Amino acid sequence: DRSLSKNELEEDHELEASLRPLSFDQFVGQTQVISNLQTYIKAATLREEVLDHVLLSGPPGLGKTTLARIISRELGAQITITSGPVLKIAGDLAGILTNLAHGDILFIDEIHRMYPAVEEFLYSAMEDFSIDIMIDQGPSARSINLKLKPFTLIGATTREGLLTAPFRARFLIHEKMSLYPVDDLFKIIQRSAKILNCSITDQGAMMIASRCRGTPRVANRFLRRIRDVAQVHTEDGVVDDKVAAQGLAMLGVDESGLDKTDRRILQTIIDYGGGPVGLKTLAIAVGEEDDSIESVYEPFLIQEGFLQKTSRGRKVTMKAYDAMGVKTQRQDSL
Ligand code: ATP
Repeated sequence: DRSLSKNELEEDHELEASLRPLSFDQFVGQTQVISNLQTYIKAATLREEVLDHVLLSGPPGLGKTTLARIISRELGAQITITSGPVLKIAGDLAGILTNLAHGDILFIDEIHRMYPAVEEFLYSAMEDFSIDIMIDQGPSARSINLKLKPFTLIGATTREGLLTAPFRARFLIHEKMSLYPVDDLFKIIQRSAKILNCSITDQGAMMIASRCRGTPRVANRFLRRIRDVAQVHTEDGVVDDKVAAQGLAMLGVDESGLDKTDRRILQTIIDYGGGPVGLKTLAIAVGEEDDSIESVYEPFLIQEGFLQKTSRGRKVTMKAYDAMGVKTQRQDSL
C-alpha cells in the first residue's frame, strides 16, 4: 500500500467498498450464521428491545465487518466502527459510548487485543448500559455514574480463545464463521466480477475459487489482479482459466492454493524432520508474528490437511510433502 498515492488509495477503498454485500440476501454462504442472526434480529425487533451483544469469530477476511454493517442496516441503526488496540484508555471508549443513540451498533474489531483496563471499563456498559467516570483531579476527584442509551456491541475476533471468560460471557450471541467452500467462493467471484464489469468464464472463476484459501477477501483481491492480467495480456479482456492460471502464478499461488508464506511454513517444518515444531520457533524461522501464523495461515493449512496441530507442536502431513515435492523415506522405499 505504501507505493500507492493518496488518490489511488481512496479509489482502492471505493472499489473494495463496492464489492461489499449490503444485505443478507447479497451475502453468500455462512447459511447457519445468517439464519441465526436473522432470527435474533427479528425477535429483538418484535420485542422492541435492542439486540443482545454479538461476538463474531473466525479467520480474517470472511466478512465479519460486512456482517456487522448488514446487521446495523437491518436494525435501521447507526454503526460506529473501531478496533481493540486503538482504544488505549478508558476515556477513548467513554467518548464513543456516550455518543451512541438508542439501539446503535458499536463494532469493535480485533476485540481480543483490547487493553485490560478498557475491557473492564466496558463490562458495566455492556451489562447495565452505564459507566463510571472520574471527574476532577486530586482531593476533589470523584467517580460519577453515567447512564448510556441501550446499544449493541458487536465484537469481531480472529482468536476467540484469547478472550477472557468474563468478557466472553457478556456476549449473549456467539457466531463462528468458517472458511468458505469453493462453491460459495465461485458465486462471490462471479458477483464481484459483475460489479467490476469484468468478463469471467466459469472455469476462470472456479480456478480462482479453488485457490483463494477459502476467504472472500483473498478471492476479491486475486480477481482484481487477474483482471489486470486479462486487460494487458488478452485482446478481449476475458478472465478464463488460462489467464487465471497466469495471474495466480504471478501472485505466487501454486496449484495446491499455497502461497509463499504457506510454503515457507511447511518447508520449515519439513526441515525440522516433519515436526512437531513449536509455534515460537516456527514464527521466528518464517519471519511472521505467531498471531498471524495462528489466525491467518494455520486455519487454511489445517482445514486442507497440510498441517496437524498436536500438544507438542505443528506437524506436516503426507499431503504437505507431496505439495512441496519432497519425497519422504517411506515414499523412497516404495
Ligand atoms: P477482518 O476480520 O480482517 O476485518 P472481515 O472478516 O471483517 O475481515 P470483511 O472486511 O467484512 O472481512 O470482508 C472482506 C471482503 O470480502 C468484503 O469487502 C466483501 O467484499 C467480501 N465478502 C466477505 N464476505 C462475503 C460474502 N459472504 N459474500 C460476498 N462477499 C463477501
